Formats: sequence, structure tokens, C-alpha cells
Amino acid sequence: MFGAEVAKVHDTLGRPLGQLRLSVTDRCNLRCRYCMPEEEYHWLRREDLLSYEEIAYLAGIFAEKGANKVRLTGGEPLLRQDVVRLVAMLAADPRIEEIALTTNGVLLESCAGELRRAGLSRVTVSLDTLRPERFFALTRQDLHARVLDGIRAAAAAGFPRLKIDTVVMRGVNDDEIPAMIEFGRTVGAEVRFIEYMDVGGATHWSPDDVVPRASILARLQASYGSILPLGENDSAPAERFALPDGTALGIIASVTAPFCSSCDRSRLTADGAWYLCLYALRGFDLRGPLRRGATREEIAHLIEDAWTARDDRGAERRRETRVRGPLVPLENLRRDPHLEMHTRGG
Ligand code: SAM
Ligand code: SF4
Ligand code: SF4
Repeated sequence: MFGAEVAKVHDTLGRPLGQLRLSVTDRCNLRCRYCMPEEEYHWLRREDLLSYEEIAYLAGIFAEKGANKVRLTGGEPLLRQDVVRLVAMLAADPRIEEIALTTNGVLLESCAGELRRAGLSRVTVSLDTLRPERFFALTRQDLHARVLDGIRAAAAAGFPRLKIDTVVMRGVNDDEIPAMIEFGRTVGAEVRFIEYMDVGGATHWSPDDVVPRASILARLQASYGSILPLGENDSAPAERFALPDGTALGIIASVTAPFCSSCDRSRLTADGAWYLCLYALRGFDLRGPLRRGATREEIAHLIEDAWTARDDRGAERRRETRVRGPLVPLENLRRDPHLEMHTRGG
């Protein structure tokens, strides 16, 4: 597939409009303690959810403005009915160059092949532990085996650059760092370790629970010897490293070494609110104009104007905060579910 020529739009810090994360649902079949630790949630209104036609239409406009790589996320994106159809619709748009998926893997086994055939380019599965009992404690669901089956199915379906994302929490799973690498090797997946972030929804976040990049590297070093930085410098959030035998891995140090200065990503929620930063407290409503009949050009202008004025660097600003706790108080999350990580799509 060849991407059409696009004129890139840049923000006030010179960052281009790049990757678009499309959250297709705010629902989830897990309750990860770093993302959805509460007993009850306020959900987006069903009638507000964008149809696949609306999502694909907006994604096409974004692609024209330079956001030609999309990632489906959620909530759990595979919970949305017939998401394979959305993948096929996006794949049919020549302006969209890459369609990736971030999933918890629970429902992946039965649809991995279908997704690949529909045009999905890449898959990242989130997995924080190799121990079923720990998985249950972390997610409140006894579905560990299904996630492992999902990862194996994605590997068998032949997705290139399969990734496993692991949020590392102190005293919870930080003793499994080498074990995750070993598991990644068995399925041909690259493991990326993510620092536990103080995003909306992480209502139990404390700096004491964060395992910083330096400690992750020290643990890898203790097991494998010297770790070589691969020194790639692009807009990807992960810094990549190689073990002495060449095995590659990533670390996403959003807390201790944020990558805001090169961040080109934005997020569209399932009900059409567009956020220019994971930490942004306000988004731009695209559903309203779309459903009121705004023209393609009007929506394109809205996107361009918002991006041109963007000065967000949420994680860097958070690092400057002296006393750091959860980003958003629980009562505000209840008032506006858009502030939740599981609505925004991570
Ligand atoms: N449900 C899918 C999944 O878990 O892969 C997609 C949505 S989830 C919000 C996207 C990513 O955000 C996951 O990899 C998850 O581990 C990560 N995430 C959620 N809360 C986080 C937190 N507080 N700190 C770091 N990563 C977090
Ligand atoms: Fe876990 Fe993803 Fe669900 Fe959040 S959205 S609870 S990270 S599976
Ligand atoms: Fe991008 Fe905001 Fe994350 Fe910084 S905090 S990397 S600007 S999304």
C-alpha cells in the first residue's frame, strides 16, 4: 500500500501530527489495578459511540493531515462487536499506512488470523505476569491462560514485530523482568517494560510503586550482563536496548524520562472526543460537528487549528510536580469518564 502525499501539520513545539490512537470502546473484560481499580464506573453513552463508518471517515481526515498510522485500543478493543470490519475499512483507505492494535489478549485467539487477513499490520498484547495467581490479583479475572493462547495465536498468524507490554510495579511483578524476556523469546515477541504512570484512572498510584527505567536496566544487567542502547531516535515511546545475544527489548520511561519533546500522538475516544495528550484534562469534540453535518474541510480545519496550537507536554509537567499523587481525583473521574485511561486508550 502506498501512502498519499500529505502536508504535515506541526504544533507549537514543532511536533508533527502523527499517530492516532482510536479507542473503540471504553468497556473492558479485565480490571487491571493500575487502570481500573474501582468497583464501579460511569460509561460513555451508547448513542454517543461513533459508528465504524464515522470512525473510518474521521481517520481518513486525520490521515490527510499526516496521521497515517492508527492504533486501535480501548478499553478492550476486541470487545467491540465485529472489530474486524473496522480493520478492513481502515485498510481499504490508501491514506492509512499502518493499522496496529493494543489488546489485553483475552479474546485474541479466535480472531488473530481474521484480523491479519483484514489488514491489521501489528499487534501489541499487554501482559504483566506469567503467574496465573498473580494475573488474577492484578486483573480480578481468571483469564491468564486465554491471554497466553491469544499471544501464541498472534505469533502463529504471522504478525511482524509482535510486542508484549508489561507495566512494572514495585513489589507486584518486578521480580519477573527476566522471565518476561524469556517468554517473549519463546513466542518471537519483543517485550517492552512500562513505568507505572499517574494517569487518570490510576487512582491508587504512588511514586513508591514506580520501578524506574534505571532499576529495570539494573535487573536486566544482573541477569544478562551488559545491555546495549540501540540509540534509535524517533517518535516511538520506547527506548530500545539489546541483550548481549541480540535480543531486543524496550523501556517506556514515561515517569522518569518522558518523551513529550518528540510526541506526535493523539487520541480519539469511542464517542469522538479528541485529546492531544494522555494527561490533557480537556479534549475537542469531533462527534458534534460530524453529526451536525460539518463538511470534511471544516473538520479538517478544526483538527489543524487544534494541533497547530498544541503545547501539551503532560508527563514532563507532571515530573515538575513536587508532591505527586494520582492525576485526577475520583470524583472528577466519576463526573467525566473521558479522564479515564480506559476511555482514552492509553
Ligand atoms: N485493554 C487494552 C490493553 O490493556 O492492552 C488496551 C487499552 S490499555 C488502556 C492500553 C495500555 O495502557 C496497556 O498496555 C496498559 O498496560 C497501559 N496502562 C494502563 N494504565 C496504565 C498505567 N497506570 N501506567 C502505565 N500503563 C498503563
Ligand atoms: Fe487492563 Fe487494558 Fe482493561 Fe485497562 S483497558 S483494565 S489496561 S485490560
Ligand atoms: Fe505525548 Fe502527552 Fe504523553 Fe507527553 S504526556 S508523551 S505530550 S501524550
